[in-house]
Amino acid sequence: MKFSELGLSQDILDAITTHGYVEATPIQEKTIPLTLSGRDVIGQAQTGTGKTAAFGLPILEHIDLNNKNIQALIVSPTRELAIQTADELKKLGHDKHVDVQVVFGGSDIRRQIQNLKSHPQILVGTPGRLLDHINRKTVKIDNVKTLVLDEADEMLNMGFLEDIESIIKNTPADRQTLLFSATMPPAIKRIGVKFMTNPEHIQIEAKELTTDLVDQYFVRMRENEKFDTMTRIFDVQAPKLAIVFGRTKRRVEELSRGLEARGYHAAGLHGDLTQQMRSRVLAQFKSHEINILVATDVAARGLDVKDVSHVYNFDIPQDPESYVHRIGRTGRAGAKGVSVTLVAPNEMDYLRAVEDLTKKRMTALEPASLQEARVGKIKNAAGEVDQIVNAVDVKDIQSEVDKLTSKYSSEQLAAALLSSVADLEKQNTPVEITRERPLPRRRGGGGGSRNGGGDRRRGGNGGGGYRGNRDRRGNGESSRNGGGQRRSGRDGGSSAASSERRFGDYKRRDGRSTERHSNGGAPRQRREFTVREKD
Ligand code: ADP
Ligand code: MG
Repeated sequence: MKFSELGLSQDILDAITTHGYVEATPIQEKTIPLTLSGRDVIGQAQTGTGKTAAFGLPILEHIDLNNKNIQALIVSPTRELAIQTADELKKLGHDKHVDVQVVFGGSDIRRQIQNLKSHPQILVGTPGRLLDHINRKTVKIDNVKTLVLDEADEMLNMGFLEDIESIIKNTPADRQTLLFSATMPPAIKRIGVKFMTNPEHIQIEAKELTTDLVDQYFVRMRENEKFDTMTRIFDVQAPKLAIVFGRTKRRVEELSRGLEARGYHAAGLHGDLTQQMRSRVLAQFKSHEINILVATDVAARGLDVKDVSHVYNFDIPQDPESYVHRIGRTGRAGAKGVSVTLVAPNEMDYLRAVEDLTKKRMTALEPASLQEARVGKIKNAAGEVDQIVNAVDVKDIQSEVDKLTSKYSSEQLAAALLSSVADLEKQNTPVEITRERPLPRRRGGGGGSRNGGGDRRRGGNGGGGYRGNRDRRGNGESSRNGGGQRRSGRDGGSSAASSERRFGDYKRRDGRSTERHSNGGAPRQRREFTVREKD
C-alpha cells in the first residue's frame, strides 16, 4: 500500500519519499491509521519490518510545532537503539522541521541538558537517564501526548519495569500509549495493557515469527568444542558482516578477545563498556572495519545495521523470544541472511522451545573439519591477493623477486602467498572460554533442575532478572522420556531420510524425524533465570 493512502500530510510524505520508502510495510499499513485516530496500539511484527516508522510517522504527523512541550516520548532499552530511533525520526521529520532529541546514560548529562533547551517536540531515551532528567526537572513529560515503549516486552520485563512505571507516572493519564515489538509474550502483554486504554493489538500474521529470508541452522557439539566449531564455520562461510551472541558479558568479552587472537576482525558490545567504546565498536562495525560484532541480547536489541549477513548464537538463548530478536538482526528490509545456533547436547530442549515459538525447524549442520576450515581460509585469502598484487611495487625489490622466480615455480609461490595471507597458524591459537553455568533443564522428567534454584537474581553479572513463570503458548510441553534423552533424526539417530546437501561449501545434514513431543499433561513450564543487563 502507498503511504499516501494512510492519511499522512504532504511534508511527511515528502520525507518518506526522500528517505527512499516506496510502499508501506504491513505493520505500517495496519497501525498508522489507528495510531493517527488516537487509539492505543500494540504493534507486533517481525524484526526489520519498519516498526520505527510505524509509530514514528503518526507521531510526526501529530506534532504541533507551536507547542514547546515534549509531545512524544519514546523509551528504548539501549543507548544505541535510542540513537538509531532518534536518527530515523529526525530524517522523517526533517521536512516538517520537527526537533528530536535523545538522552541516554554514559554520556555527559550537562550537554544533554543544553540540547534539551531547544525544546524538542520528540524525546527518545533510555529509562535510567530519562528518570534522571525527570528528577532533575530538566525533562518535563506532563504534556506528552504519545508514549512509545519500543521493544516493549523487553521494557516491561523485570530489568526495566520499575523504571518504566516511574516514567509513566509522570505522563498524563489521557496520553496515547503504543507498544511495539516482534515478540509479546501473553504475561508481558498483560502488564503492558495495564498502562493502556482499550488497546488494539495488531499482530502481523506472518506464517512464522522469524523471516523466511534467514536460513536457520544449528550445530550440535560438546560445550568445550564450541569455540573451535564456530571459528571453523567462520572460515567456511566467510561471513561478510556477522553478529555473534553470547549469553553473558563475560562471554562476550572472552569471545571477542579469542576471535581477535585467531585473526578475525572482531569486537564486543555489552552494557559494561563505556559509552565511548560502545559507540566506537558500533561505528567500526557499520563501516566494516570489524566484521564480527560479539554482543549480548540486550546490547543488540532492535539494532538496524545494514547488510548483516550472518548471526551466530554461540550460546543458545534461554528465552525463545531472544532468539527471534537475535536472528532478526539479519534478513532485514528484504535482505537475506543466515543464522547458526551452537547447541550442546543438554540444551536440545531449548532448541525445541525456540522452534516451537518460531514454528520453524532449524536445519542440522555438520561441524566443519579442520581441513575444510583451512580450505575455506585459503579461499578467503585468495580474495585478498588481488589487492596485494595490485598494491605492490616491484621496483626496489626486483633482484629478490628474480631470485625467487628462478628458484620456485609460480604455483609454489602462489601457494606460499595464499597460506601466508590466510595465516593458517593463527587458527591454532589456543583460546580459553570460561565455562558458563549450564542452562537448567527445561523440563523436569522427575529430576528437576540441578541449577534451577541457583540465585542469579540481581546476580553479579549486571542485574539478573527473574523472568517469572511464563507459560507462553499455554501448551506445556511434555517429554515422556525426560528431557535430554530423546533421540530423533536430528540427533543422529534414526534418519532414514537423511540427505546430504550443500550449503556453500558447507555440508548440512537434512532430514530429521518429524516426530514432535506430545502435548498436555505436562507440568507447567518453569521459566528460568536469565542474566539481564540494564542500560
Ligand atoms: P523493526 O523495528 O521492525 O525491527 P526498523 O524500524 O528498524 O524495523 O526498520 C528496518 C529497516 O527497514 C530500516 O533500515 C528502515 O529504514 C527500513 N524501512 C522501514 N520502513 C520501510 C519501508 N516502508 N520501505 C522500505 N524500507 C523501510
Ligand atoms: Mg525496532
